[in-house]
Amino acid sequence: MWKWIVIGASSAIASVAIASNTPSPATQPSLVIVSRDDWGSKPQTMPTTRRHVPKLITIHHAGVVWKAGTDPAQNVRNLQKFSQNEKKWPDVPYHFMIAPDGRVFEGRDLNYEPDSNTKYPLNGVLNIELMGNFEEQRVSLEQLRATTLLITKLCRELILDPATIRGHGDAAQGQTVCPGKDFKRYIDDGTIRAWVEAELRGESPAIEEKPELKDGPTTRIAE
Ligand SMILES: [Zn+2]
Repeated sequence: MWKWIVIGASSAIASVAIASNTPSPATQPSLVIVSRDDWGSKPQTMPTTRRHVPKLITIHHAGVVWKAGTDPAQNVRNLQKFSQNEKKWPDVPYHFMIAPDGRVFEGRDLNYEPDSNTKYPLNGVLNIELMGNFEEQRVSLEQLRATTLLITKLCRELILDPATIRGHGDAAQGQTVCPGKDFKRYIDDGTIRAWVEAELRGESPAIEEKPELKDGPTTRIAE
């Protein structure tokens, strides 16, 4: 059973999950969501023409190698400034961003479609980004857990279908390697979908890292 506790009064979705009936703290999964107010988000006004209803779960990596010791909150604030100043987007292009330690940062308002450097239909797209570059770094177990728990929560609350989980490159074919080979395979072979479906059934699937790819990165992303 999952119980959600709101920790950010200003944000309806900011919450922490506490699992009951789990054997030990080491295996007890939890989801920590950092609200927009908590990281200091300053979104610009969204045009009403960009309103949408989220339907399709699309997953990204940042595509930028994560350096250990970086503050994820600062990373998100920098991305927002870059998005607004350089890309002329009103906000970060993602609805959620997941740090190497598994913390989930709330991004763009879910009621508005995202932005992209690539061309594909954005209406209905719910964008989740994992910080790091999984062409060059290995995804962390904490990110795999947080991705699964976040998507489970979104599927429950927004009535989304886990069958819609896809990588950016699946949506924008031939335009990007995003979300990077070390992570993309968890989407391609249905692993993330299976974990989410198990969570939705009330099971607690064993979320585990796959072995190193022969032609893939060897260094795990570090906090
Ligand atoms: Zn992407």
